[in-house]
Amino acid sequence: MEYTYDDDLEELCPVCGDKVSGYHYGLLTCESCKGFFKRTVQNNKRYTCAENQECKIDKTQRKRCPFCRFQKCLNVGMRLEGNNNNNNNNNSS
Ligand SMILES: [Zn+2]
Ligand SMILES: [Zn+2]
Repeated sequence: MEYTYDDDLEELCPVCGDKVSGYHYGLLTCESCKGFFKRTVQNNKRYTCAENQECKIDKTQRKRCPFCRFQKCLNVGMRLEGNNNNNNNNNSS
């Protein structure tokens, strides 16, 4: 084995643990969560949780409860206004 892939270089989606595809809505997430978040926001979707709003979200179960998945998206820091830069540099010098 001449090649070794360093696992540390593979960032995992903070929402579901899948491999990330890049920065989406403010942080590194996977393609799936990016699309999910986008659809949710754009379509103004409202979900309801059939459990106690504390479903475990991971790669295999992320589709089971969109409510908890979206909550987790928000909890990990995904922002609706993905292109907005929080740093408003008002150079008044
Ligand atoms: Zn994900
Ligand atoms: Zn749930």
